[in-house]
Amino acid sequence: MTQHHQWLHHVLRWFDADANTTHLDSTSRRFNPVRVLPFIGIHLACLGVLYVGISPFALAFSGGFFLIRMFAITGFYHRYFAHKTFKTSRLWQFLFAVLAASAGQRGPLWWAAHHRHHHQHSDQSADIHSPHHGGFWWAHLGWFTCDAGFVTDEKRVRDWLKFPELRFLNRFDSLVPVLAAIAIYGLGETLCVLAPSLQTDGPQLLVWGFMISTVVLFHATVSINSLAHVWGRRRFNTDDNSRNNLLLALITLGEGWHNNHHRWPLSARQGFRWYEVDLTYYGLWLLSKLGVIWELKPVPQHIMEEALALDKGRRYQP
Ligand SMILES: [Zn+2]
Ligand SMILES: [Zn+2]
Repeated sequence: MTQHHQWLHHVLRWFDADANTTHLDSTSRRFNPVRVLPFIGIHLACLGVLYVGISPFALAFSGGFFLIRMFAITGFYHRYFAHKTFKTSRLWQFLFAVLAASAGQRGPLWWAAHHRHHHQHSDQSADIHSPHHGGFWWAHLGWFTCDAGFVTDEKRVRDWLKFPELRFLNRFDSLVPVLAAIAIYGLGETLCVLAPSLQTDGPQLLVWGFMISTVVLFHATVSINSLAHVWGRRRFNTDDNSRNNLLLALITLGEGWHNNHHRWPLSARQGFRWYEVDLTYYGLWLLSKLGVIWELKPVPQHIMEEALALDKGRRYQP
């Protein structure tokens, strides 16, 4: 294939992530402008707010869709698909994968494979989103605008490859976000007719409920890459620079207890002490009481004792 046609394949991979990936240079950390046009586009689409206005319903929908998808990202893409900290059925596994996929943060296998790589090489030069090697912006969004961050390393997610439905979601990773955007537009148009007192419509709900909600969700999620290895306190002397940070934990529903998480990634819970607010864990606990998920892995006794001893010795404050 000539250099001339490369851009066409980048465009094709907006729709089919597995298209001609053998031609990709998976070591290239050069910015790929074609690849990231949709990412730039969704940011520009937020400017539509100047034309569509605002309503309490659109704002509430935007916030609600943010929360439910943040839960799906942290609870399922991260704590389930990357770390297997609990069990669930094949149907629930798929449904939560679809919900998380609507966040536009690629497919479950890509997400889990990259994250497992991060844990293995945290803050070493191989870590593709370490702020200690590339700086804030690289760790925040540079790392996936290059070809090195694009392909799913299937060797790291062998345990999931047996599920064709997950491979499908991973391959056609823009399908769910696009369908979600269309459905939200349709909902807005429907409400415009059936419930005019809500004062919303298709374009307004599309901008608030999908574009803004998804962009905020994206930046909140990747703040764990760019900030949770820089800002906050280190309770455990881990091999990386991970931190515990209450503000990040609130924004990401519990992911801000990142130093805890790097000390013991195998527990469903990331806030170890009672005051370390971990909303995703409370949600997972509730799902386990409802029988949707089970066998949540706890923080082991020896890790809890280590945390307590360190807090006592260093007068650790949240
Ligand atoms: Zn980390
Ligand atoms: Zn992790």
